[in-house]
Amino acid sequence: MAARHTTFTLTLRPTAEQEMMLNRHCGAARFAYNCGLRMVKDGLSSQKAGTVAEGEKTPWTGFDLINAFNRWKHTEAAGCVDGKPGLPWQGEVCAQVFEESLVDLGRALASFAKSKRGERRGPRIRFPVLKKKGRCRDSFRMRNKRRGHKNPIRLGDDGPRSLTLPKLGSLRVAQCTRRIRRMQSKGRCLILFATVFASRGRWHVRLNCETPPRIAPEAPAVTEPVGIDRGLCSFAVVASASGQHQQTLCSPRPLAGNLRRLRRVSRRHSRKKDGSRNRRKSAISIGKLHGRIRDVRHDFLHRVSTDLVKTHDHLVLEDLNTSGMMRNRSLARHIADSGWATFAKNITYKAMWWGRTVTSADRFYPSSKRCSACGHVAASLSLSQRQHVCELCGARQDRDVNAARNLAQWPTIVAGKHPETQNACGGRSAGGIDSARSRETAPCEAGRGSPQRPRRAVLAEIVNTL
Ligand SMILES: [Zn+2]
Repeated sequence: MAARHTTFTLTLRPTAEQEMMLNRHCGAARFAYNCGLRMVKDGLSSQKAGTVAEGEKTPWTGFDLINAFNRWKHTEAAGCVDGKPGLPWQGEVCAQVFEESLVDLGRALASFAKSKRGERRGPRIRFPVLKKKGRCRDSFRMRNKRRGHKNPIRLGDDGPRSLTLPKLGSLRVAQCTRRIRRMQSKGRCLILFATVFASRGRWHVRLNCETPPRIAPEAPAVTEPVGIDRGLCSFAVVASASGQHQQTLCSPRPLAGNLRRLRRVSRRHSRKKDGSRNRRKSAISIGKLHGRIRDVRHDFLHRVSTDLVKTHDHLVLEDLNTSGMMRNRSLARHIADSGWATFAKNITYKAMWWGRTVTSADRFYPSSKRCSACGHVAASLSLSQRQHVCELCGARQDRDVNAARNLAQWPTIVAGKHPETQNACGGRSAGGIDSARSRETAPCEAGRGSPQRPRRAVLAEIVNTL
C-alpha cells in the first residue's frame, strides 16, 4: 500500500511583530505571482506582435517561471540594493515563498491550457488573473527542505504549543502538537510543506504530511457488502442486502440551522457604508458564520465516514450526479448542506487507508424503484412516497432502506449472479457492462459543447435517488 498523504491544520497565535512578518510573506507570494504573470503576458503579446527576440521563450511551467523570476530579480527593473541592481526587500522573506507561488502560477497556466484543449474535466478554467491585496486569499507556502541534520519546519521547539518556520522563527499555536510530534518521533509522519493562510480574521497553518500505511487495521464488524443511500430526509441509510444490518444517519444540517442568523448578518452588512471599517468588520462576522457552518458539516462528515469505514468491509455508494442535481433550485441548498460529494470523497480515501472496498453503483441503477426482495422495478415512484410497496411480491418497506438494500446487492448483480431487470431510464440492461455503456451514451454526461441534459431527466434522477 502506498504512503498516505494527510494534513493537520493548526491555528496560529502570532505576536504583533510576527503578524507583520506573516503579512509580508503573503505580500511576497502575491508579488511573485503577479510578476510571473506579467512576464507570461508580455511574452504572449510579443509573440502575437511577432517581436520575439531570438532564443527568448515565454515562461510557462513553474520551473521556467522560477528561472525567469530569478533572472529578473537581479536586474535594474527590480530595484537597487547598495548601488547594485536587485530586489531591495528579497532578504526579508523566505526565498521558497517566491518559488512556491510561481509553481502555483505554473499549475494555473497548465490547467488553463488543458481546459482549453478540452482535456480537463469540470468547469472551464480561465486565464489566471492578477492577485489584488485585500481581494485575494492571503497565503504562502514553505517546503520542509532539510538542511544539515535539522528540518526547517519543526514542532515543539519552544514548548508543546509551538511551531518553527524558516525566517519566521517560533510561533505559538492554539492546539497541542503532541500527537504529531509522537508520530514524528516514531518515524510515522514526515512534514512535506506548510501552508500559512489567513481566514476569518485568524492565521492558520496547514501541515501536509506523508505517513506510512496503517499497520494491521482492525477487522471490520460487518463483512458483507452494505449499501449507503444518501437522501435529504435522513442524511444516509446504511443497510446490508438482507436488511439485517441497518443504520440511519442524521445530519446536523448546519446551514438550515443558521440560515436566519446568516440572513440577519448579511442584511446588516449591506447597510454598512462601502469601504468603511464597519463594513470590513461585518464581512469578517459573515465569514466567521460561514466558517462555523462548514466546520460543523465537515466534523460530522469526517466522524461518520471514519466510523463507517472502520466497521464495514465493503461499502457500496451510488454514483450521484450531484452538480447536475443542484441545478434544481428548490433542492440545491439542501443538497449542498448535506455535503454528499465530500462524504463520498471521504469514504473513498479513508477506505483506501483502511484496506476496505468501495464500489460505485451505476448512475442509472434503479435503486429506489427496484424491490430489494424480488428485483421487480416499479414504473414510477414519486418523492412523496416514503414507503416502497412492491406490486409483484407485496413487500412493504421504507424507501431509503429499500434503496440501501438494493445498493448492497449491486456487487452481486455485477458479478452476474442475478440477472438485472430494467434501468431507471426504462431500458433493459444485463449487469454492469451494459449499464456502463448506457451511461456513456446517455445525454447526461454533459461535457462542454454536448447538448444540455433535459431538465425532466435530471428531475427523474433526483426522484429515483432520493
Ligand atoms: Zn418485490
